[in-house]
Amino acid sequence: MDQRQSTADEVAAGFRNLYGFAPDGVWAAPGRVNLIGEYTDFNEGFVMPLALPHSALAAVARRTDGVLRLHSADLDVPLAELRTDELKPLSDGGWAAYPAGVVWALREAGHTVGGADLHLASAVPTGAGLSSSAALEVVTALALNDLFELGLSGPELARIAQRAENDFVGVPCGIMDQMASACARPGHLLHLDCRDLSVEQVPFDLAAHGLGLLVVDTRVKHALGDGAYAERRDGCEEGARLLGLSHLRDLPYEQLPAALGKLTDERVRRYVRHVVSDDHRVQRVAALLEAGEVRAIGPVLTEGHHSLRDDLRISCPELDLAVEAANAAGALGARMTGGGFGGSAIVLVERERQAEIAEALERAFVEASFTAPRIFPAVAAQGARRER
Ligand code: ADP
Ligand code: MG
Repeated sequence: MDQRQSTADEVAAGFRNLYGFAPDGVWAAPGRVNLIGEYTDFNEGFVMPLALPHSALAAVARRTDGVLRLHSADLDVPLAELRTDELKPLSDGGWAAYPAGVVWALREAGHTVGGADLHLASAVPTGAGLSSSAALEVVTALALNDLFELGLSGPELARIAQRAENDFVGVPCGIMDQMASACARPGHLLHLDCRDLSVEQVPFDLAAHGLGLLVVDTRVKHALGDGAYAERRDGCEEGARLLGLSHLRDLPYEQLPAALGKLTDERVRRYVRHVVSDDHRVQRVAALLEAGEVRAIGPVLTEGHHSLRDDLRISCPELDLAVEAANAAGALGARMTGGGFGGSAIVLVERERQAEIAEALERAFVEASFTAPRIFPAVAAQGARRER
């Protein structure tokens, strides 16, 4: 899918055409890119994503008869009609499992959700590592929060959305994507502690520094459900257990060499090294940004890519090429972002060289006979909100 961004009025009109009456409102929730801190969220560590302008918009009306009707303007599938009291986890409801899972998770948490009619249109590309799934969950959660006056906070909605994806859809994702979509602010990075969900909004005005951040969607579809993500997750848990820790977050960076010496399993050692060093990279990037040394984060991003490629082993030839070609063309730094095995890379560039570096990337992909990437500048946008 490669949809343009619909307006709130367009999505409301789509709702009216479909259901024959006006929605109660229109809500929006964005996709995200992660600047640094990968596979650290489920280790209760640190991440630093930003919200993209690309959002999922949902026009929704409240119901009280236990009926849930779900429709996506972006897919050629009929309206799904379900009953809120008959929702079954892991029932493979296709795309509808994401919003239905949110209703299920709210009800599991003891909230009253009496039903809803929903019509969705999203500009977040799917399977590009930009979190179209979290956008869909969070927009649903926010709409229901407002319509049923649940009074839940952004982090609480993110937890509900994550529960929907983990236990209803069946994807073992961490909390980063949902928190970014629910809580990001325009012009800021979300410096998130995934242990207690405390956040610090870090100013990230690249243009003011003469810089830009390119997103390079390799168009290689990632599939987190295929077990590789779960395998990394298990390996990290194994590492924590072998080191006598609750989570890898609890291993201070200074103690990493000693801890690695205690691990005999080569695979677990690599995973531990990645997670603990990437947590440290998040803190280094935070310190550099605080000090105004924005250009200096470039090499930290590239270092993070090498860790994902060599230690976690979740990169792919297209992502490696994006990083190498960008750096060879004079980028300040680059790395793959998101779950890996495809999806997107990010590239930090001098603003005046942005177009030139994008062209060099396109050429490198042609020379390698890879599918042409989709390249666009990332601007830190607003998290979930009511549009009308
Ligand atoms: P990502 O979150 O990286 O984009 P996922 O595999 O986690 O990739 O989620 C993609 C899935 O989310 C799609 O296969 C689909 O089920 C659902 N989805 C995302 N956007 C839409 C949309 N606009 N309409 C319907 N379903 C969507
Ligand atoms: Mg996803």
